Amino acid sequence: MRALVFETFGGPLTVREVPAPDPAPGGVVVRVGASGICRSDWHAWQGHDPDVVVPHVPGHELAGTVTAVGRDVRRWRVGDRVTVPFVNACGACAQCAAGDPQVCPHQTQPGFTHWGSLAEFVALDAADVNLVALPDELGLATAAALGCRFATAFRAVVQIARVQAGEWVAVHGCGGVGLSAVQIAAAAGARVVAVDVAEGALALARQFGAEHTVAGGGDGVADRVTELTGGGAHVSLDALGAAATCENSVRSLRPRGRHVQVGLLPPAQGRPAVPMERVIALELQVLGSHGMAAHAYPELLGLIAAGRLRPQELVTRELGLDEAGAALADVGRTPGIAVVTSF
Ligand SMILES: [Zn+2]
Ligand SMILES: [Zn+2]
Repeated sequence: MRALVFETFGGPLTVREVPAPDPAPGGVVVRVGASGICRSDWHAWQGHDPDVVVPHVPGHELAGTVTAVGRDVRRWRVGDRVTVPFVNACGACAQCAAGDPQVCPHQTQPGFTHWGSLAEFVALDAADVNLVALPDELGLATAAALGCRFATAFRAVVQIARVQAGEWVAVHGCGGVGLSAVQIAAAAGARVVAVDVAEGALALARQFGAEHTVAGGGDGVADRVTELTGGGAHVSLDALGAAATCENSVRSLRPRGRHVQVGLLPPAQGRPAVPMERVIALELQVLGSHGMAAHAYPELLGLIAAGRLRPQELVTRELGLDEAGAALADVGRTPGIAVVTSF
């Protein structure tokens, strides 16, 4: 099969022929119809993720069609249109039994623990636990964004932060997950302040429902958010994953506010200086959000079918696999979500 491969961390990203995968006994192989390009893929390429072994095929935001089924799989057949959360849970541990597969300690992740979806085919483990059936009317390019960024943002805003109508929500970093969070928070009736260094990203944030935008970078971001929100946001998300955006997010909160860490913070890029004196004095909550469980997708798919959420508007570029390497190396420079739709 054709796949995007890197042989060394930070080295060339080239499309070449590699062996196609076989399904594990509990797994499936999916013909990839669409695969998003995400900052996490960039971290994998840079060598920030200790799970990644070279040579490697990145890609974890995918949708496609089942082409092979392991002998123990019960719920899925060849031809089913599916997507999958980027966390593939084991289905057998205490966290999975408690309904929290997104923090399964035995998880696999396509594009990290094994070869991913920037390829014609991808293997997915524990299919009965992890696959999500796609409604016919949901296009594969849109569905690909659900596996990581849109679902991650949905969990962060709705399930972790429990954003209420009328609350102020600050979103620091308006890449794919940040723009998704803007749209989801606005749909929940929240008032959104979006922060980014790129004017193009802020223009998209306004289009997706941000009431105010703030130019990121430099000092004063948190003060500006505090001023615009009349004393600080109720909820603030670090949707980029950087020391500065994490710290700004915590400093943007009003008393009893909730910070949600959504962007990855690989220690290789430096640890944030979280102002813990504010956490105690203002009774702030510092929360983590890691993907979303497969069983939580029906609520999200229902809101999309009803037109309340519109992930299709976030897909701003469709690419061929041959263009994927350049897009991956360039993550964050072009606003919106890029999805590979021809392989
Ligand atoms: Zn588990
Ligand atoms: Zn992702």
